[in-house]
Amino acid sequence: MGITPKIEGATTDHSTKRWSRGTRILTKIVIALIIALVGNMVVGIWHDTPKMAKIRRENRAIEKEYQILQERIALAENTIADIKHRDHYVYRPLLGVDTIAMPQIYSDYNDSKYAALQNDTYSELMTDTWRQMDRLTRNIYYASVSLDTTQQMAENKEEFSTVIPAIWPIDRTKLRHVSSLYGMRMHPTLGIWRKHEGIDLTAPIGTAVYASGNGVISQSQWRNGYGELIEVNHGFGYKSRYAHLSKRYVQVGDSVTRGQVIGEVGNTGVSSGPHLHYEVRYRDNTVNPIHYFNKDMSEEAYIDLMNQLEKSTEK
Ligand SMILES: [Zn+2]
Repeated sequence: MGITPKIEGATTDHSTKRWSRGTRILTKIVIALIIALVGNMVVGIWHDTPKMAKIRRENRAIEKEYQILQERIALAENTIADIKHRDHYVYRPLLGVDTIAMPQIYSDYNDSKYAALQNDTYSELMTDTWRQMDRLTRNIYYASVSLDTTQQMAENKEEFSTVIPAIWPIDRTKLRHVSSLYGMRMHPTLGIWRKHEGIDLTAPIGTAVYASGNGVISQSQWRNGYGELIEVNHGFGYKSRYAHLSKRYVQVGDSVTRGQVIGEVGNTGVSSGPHLHYEVRYRDNTVNPIHYFNKDMSEEAYIDLMNQLEKSTEK
């Protein structure tokens, strides 16, 4: 019939041909896919996919951000260090007070505090940054505590400046001369070398005697050697004494203000003539009163005083 007889072998041969053709195509496709895949992998090693590239970019940005943060922290640390320096070396010495001790403030926290930051790409960077941040926080705390106490003392210093025995206890126009200064001298009536515990201001009997600073009267009585004596307790460890008075206007417990008249110059007790013996005591030891009222003394007055000192030592 003109139809090619179906011979098994031929049929088999024909289908085998078709099969093998299909197989070849399939193989080609698989190979192509493998090549594409391998190629893609190979290329992927050298070149990021857009997603990977984005992640890498973001990571670099984070790293940069942390570095900037560290720089900012370092800047803040410098500022705090400057504040601390001024507190320690300027304000506190001015007030005559020591720095506050808070040694624990400088010890770093235990590593366990930063455990949560471990096992991360940026563990080290993050831990370092947090450590710096914690150090800065502690430094700020220390500086604020220290400055608070400095401020409190500065406020007391205001009061301190009103109580310190800073003015001359008599009107300097009434002063004839300073007959004796503070320190070792030949005693004018006893004739022996001994320390003079105050200064002697020669002035007429009845000259007004001023409290040299604010305070409370702690003595107002006759006392051997001193004669009629007034003592003012100024607080902060300071006292002043006014001796050889002719009159006392105040009683123990009275509050007095700087410049208030508390008595009159006299010649009572062991005294070689009308004068005021004036003493300043700090924590019950006498100190040189000159050091306290130098501030209101002009250069001329100071030179004059020094000349008088020379004269008094010549005698
Ligand atoms: Zn004296």
